[in-house]
Order: sequence, then C-alpha cells, then structure tokens
Amino acid sequence: MQVLIVDDSKLIRMLVAECITDLGHEIIHMENGVDAVEYIKSHSPDLIMMDVEMPGLNGFETTRQIRVIKGDDWFPIIFLSAKVDEASYEEGILAGGDAYLEKPIEPWRLQLQIKAMERIYVMRQKLKTAQEELMLINEKYRKLSLFDELTGLANRRNFDQTLGREFKLAKRDKNPLSVVLCDIDFFKIYNDTYGHQAGDDCLAKVAEALGKSSNRPTDLACRYGGEEFTFILPNTDLSGAQKFSEKVRLAVSDLEIMHEGSKVLPFVSLSLGVATYNGQFSSGEGITKQADAALYKAKENGRNRVEVS
Ligand code: GH3
Ligand code: MG
Ligand code: MG
Ligand code: MG
Repeated sequence: MQVLIVDDSKLIRMLVAECITDLGHEIIHMENGVDAVEYIKSHSPDLIMMDVEMPGLNGFETTRQIRVIKGDDWFPIIFLSAKVDEASYEEGILAGGDAYLEKPIEPWRLQLQIKAMERIYVMRQKLKTAQEELMLINEKYRKLSLFDELTGLANRRNFDQTLGREFKLAKRDKNPLSVVLCDIDFFKIYNDTYGHQAGDDCLAKVAEALGKSSNRPTDLACRYGGEEFTFILPNTDLSGAQKFSEKVRLAVSDLEIMHEGSKVLPFVSLSLGVATYNGQFSSGEGITKQADAALYKAKENGRNRVEVS
C-alpha cells in the first residue's frame, strides 16, 4: 500500500513510518493539512494516517476536504490523536475517518490496525480491476453495436443514427448533405461461381477500398446490408458527391477482383446512386430514398456507373 502520513510532529511521522515500512508498505510524509489536500488532488493513496491537532487545517477539516475531492473514490483514513473523548471521536468518524488511534501510539496496535485496513485495500483493488474489465466489455459491445463484424465499417444502426444527427446539423446550418448508396454488380453470380466464403472475402476487400476512399473525418462509410454500402458525406454538394462516387467506383474496379460471371467487366464492380439534401427533405430518409432511386437507375443503365436521381 501507499500510505500517506499527515502529522506536524516529525517524531510521530518517523515512528509511524517505521511501523509501516516494517509491514512492507510505502510511505509519503506531509506535515500539514493544506499540503495533504493539495497532494490528494492529483494522487490516490491507499491509506492515510491523519493527525488531528495541527496548525492551520486540523485533521478533521483536512479529512472533510479530502472526502469531497475524492467523491466516489474511497480509501481508509485513520486518526491519530491524544484527544479521544466522545465528541472528538464522533467528529472524526463523521468527518470521514474510519478508525481512531490514541496517542501516544503503541506500535503493535498501529500495525494491527493497518493489517485490518489492508483487507479493505485488497477489496478496493479487486473493485478497480472489475471496473476496468467492465469498461473494456462496454467498449466491446459499443463497437459490436455500431460496427459491422465482417468489414469493420459502420453498420446500419450507426448509419441511421449518424444520418439523423447530420440531417439536423445540415438543416440548422443550411449546409448540403449527400448520401451515396453502392451495390456490388452481379454479386449473386459471384457467390454462385466462387462460393460464399469467397463472397465474404470479396466484401471485406471492397469495404477496405471504400473505407480508404473517404478522407474527411466527418464522412462515414457503412455496410448497409449484404453487398450494399453507403456513404454519408456532410457538407458535400451534389457535384462533390458525384466526383467522390466516381473515385469510389474506380477504387473498386481497380482492385481487379476476378468476376467471370459479370456482364459488365471481368472484375467486381459497383453501381452507385447519389442524392443531396439542399433543404428539400424533412428527414434523412428522404435523401436515402432518392439515392436508392438513383442506384436503381445506375443498374438499369448498365451498372458499373454513378447516377444521380
Ligand atoms: P445486381 O447487379 O443487380 O446488384 O445483382 P446482384 O446479384 O448483386 O443483386 P441481388 O440483390 O439479386 O443479390 C445480392 C446477392 O449478394 C445475394 C447474395 O448472394 C449476396 N450476398 C448478400 N449478402 C452477402 C454476404 O454477406 N456474404 C456473401 N458472401 N454474399 C452476400
Ligand atoms: Mg499534531
Ligand atoms: Mg443488392
Ligand atoms: Mg448487387
């Protein structure tokens, strides 16, 4: 344990330090309450041995301040005092102390008290580890709930949430907002030709190329479902979104993933539909619907192309 000893008497500090280092713990000395409060702001000892009568801040007041600063965190504070009357004892416990030892200090009593507090230290460490584990699990679930496992891109839920948020921002700031829907051409035939596993590998490669295509931090690439992908492009007008989509189309065909059954290219290709909000829709869904109509047009007009509705 890291033990903080707060006492204006150097002699007492030395005596307590000896008892504590005997037990294998580490000691930090403070000679007044103000220094202790300052120290606590950026450190968390495992135990504090606190004198009561000190010039300036007394031990009770120091303890009260420490308890406020630490909020939810908690470590034992043991008072050391010659004043062990009922009122002092009560004030100490109510101020946030956990035990009260009488001065002059008997080393055996002090050491046993510290041993008792060590049990609390062990429980506190366990609690901290459990909290850290919980945070990691939370983070894992947050990722699972917002990102697609196969491709690592944002998933449909993430898309819906992000589009809702970006739509509000675009409307408020009177900025354009573009949505691009992408669909792999003849992907059913790809699966039938090369197998489902090869299909999944292909989706991962395409997704990687899509992920690399957007370099603005506000752009979001998503796996919308199956072999369909989307982009949300905030603050991007129609011509910008078209140019971007063309770049994406080329990025995918340039991968040159063999696709014998495709009727447009010997490689895997994308059809893309673009729509841009310029104040005309009442929700993000309106943009998506229009992008979907544009995608349909791209399929109708021969695939491996970008269309605007
Ligand atoms: P089109 O050019 O008109 O888009 O033709 P298509 O075959 O790509 O279109 P369709 O929507 O008929 O078929 C999509 C196919 O994509 C269905 C399924 O075989 C395949 N697919 C969808 N999701 C997945 C997936 O997660 N993994 C794999 N391997 N294949 C998928
Ligand atoms: Mg004193
Ligand atoms: Mg499809
Ligand atoms: Mg398709």
